[in-house]
Order: sequence, then structure tokens, then C-alpha cells
Amino acid sequence: MDHGEATTTTEPAGTSPTLGPPLVELKDVNKHFGDLHVLQDIDLTVRKGEVLVVIGPSGSGKSTLCRAINRLETIDSGEIRIDGQPLPEEGKALAKLRADVGMVFQAFNLFAHKTILENVTLGPIKVRRERTSAAKERALALLDRVGVKNQAGKMPAQLSGGQQQRVAIARALAMQPKVMLFDEPTSALDPEMINEVLDVMVALAKEGMTMIVVTHEMGFARKAANRVVFMSDGQIVEEATPEEFFTAPRSDRAKDFLSKIL
Ligand code: ADP
Ligand code: MG
Repeated sequence: MDHGEATTTTEPAGTSPTLGPPLVELKDVNKHFGDLHVLQDIDLTVRKGEVLVVIGPSGSGKSTLCRAINRLETIDSGEIRIDGQPLPEEGKALAKLRADVGMVFQAFNLFAHKTILENVTLGPIKVRRERTSAAKERALALLDRVGVKNQAGKMPAQLSGGQQQRVAIARALAMQPKVMLFDEPTSALDPEMINEVLDVMVALAKEGMTMIVVTHEMGFARKAANRVVFMSDGQIVEEATPEEFFTAPRSDRAKDFLSKIL
């Protein structure tokens, strides 16, 4: 009997049953902020098509982990590879890496003085050297996909938080990233807007996008995640399927954390 990943019954419905080769690899990664050992011997591999949810108390190092993956933070030791390549240190190679690793933050981070359409076309034109007409056409298709095409001519401040966050997702997708990082993308939103953003993320997961998602949204994890990683005090304490993690966490730290958020 084959117990390989391809036949496991824990795959969320609708996602590809087979995951591809390693796309994001962290080996023995360490990072300090002064005396604070914020990432401790982190080993983590995310495969192509995989959706990984990272969960853990505030201050446990989740954002630092995300920022290290697209080199918004440097690391002290260890290795990070994207699609087999070590992270470039600077210059054009670093700009290319940032384009390959799409990032959506808690705060919407749109360019305030650009229209919604310009927010989405800017990166492809400047970094990917796309023609303006082609970039516009693709941007409109992406805005349509996240449900805000009719807002294309407006300024970010004219949109709701949920709409802005969906534009932020479209903007990252416009760079045709290999992997998308989401750092608590719904935690700054009013409750009624959370689902419109999560729905876009679930659809993206089902289309096979490789995703690392820092979130405490259990519904999203259950619907879309292949795996949950629980972080505490700079360490990966536990790795499990969403079902296992939310129903039967193994570590005391995870049990304690879940008792506070559920
Ligand atoms: P999380 O996202 O899990 O809440 P963070 O990665 O943001 O955690 O932060 C982990 C720890 O590192 C926190 O104690 C935070 O105060 C600290 N920290 C984060 N960024 C910096 C920084 N630039 N300088 C000093 N300390 C930082
Ligand atoms: Mg954080």
C-alpha cells in the first residue's frame, strides 16, 4: 500500500493532489535582533502548489520569517533558497527575487497617489519591462478576478479596506510570482470585509498558487491549507495538517495558544 503524499486523504478539496518540487527552502536559519533570538534554527520547505499556514502568538517571529524570505530582513546564519537559488544580496537579482515572491501585508500598502490601475501596472512596467498596453490589459483582468475592476480609475483612499487588500493581491499577482506570502492579510480589516479577501485567497490556493499565509483564520486554514506550522518564541514548535492542529494540537504551547484564540 502506497502512503505517498499523492494519495493522502488530508488534501483539501479542489487543490492539486500532487505537490511539486521544493520552491521555498529554509535550512537552519537564525536571526537575532540584539539579544533577541527571533528565528531559531528554522528548517522549512514549501513545495510548489503547497499552501502553508503559519500561526502563533504575537512576537513569535512570523513577520520576520516572511520578511527574511524576500530579503526585507537579512539573516545571521543558515540558508534560504527560492526555486533552488540562494537569495540574491542586492541589485537586479534582488529586484527579480522580490517580483518572484509576492507579498501582501497587514496594512494595504498601496501607492496612495496612484490610481488602482496604476498600482497594478507599475511593477510589471518598471521591473518586468512589460509594454504599457499589455500591462494594463493584464491588470484589468486581475482586478476583475479579485472583483474590483470597476474601481480601476479610483484612488486607494476611495476604496474600502477589503477592496484595497484585494487590489494589493492583484498587484502582487501582476508580477507573476512563483510564491505568494501573506502576512496577516485580514487582521486590519473590519469583520464584514474579511471573507471577501479570504475568498480570493482560497480561489488562488485552488488554482495551485504556492502560498505562505500568516493568519489565525481557522476557516481559511481548513479550506485551503495543506499544512499548518505553529511558531512560538522564534521556533517552529509543531507542524501538522489543519485538521490535526486545530482538533488535537500536540504541544502545550499550541494548546495554550488555541485556547486563547478559539
Ligand atoms: P510576529 O509577526 O510573530 O508578531 P515579529 O516577527 O514581528 O513577530 O517579531 C518578533 C520579535 O522581534 C518581536 O519581539 C519584535 O518586537 C521583534 N522585532 C521585530 N522587528 C524588529 C526590529 N526591526 N528590531 C528589533 N526587534 C524587532
Ligand atoms: Mg507579525
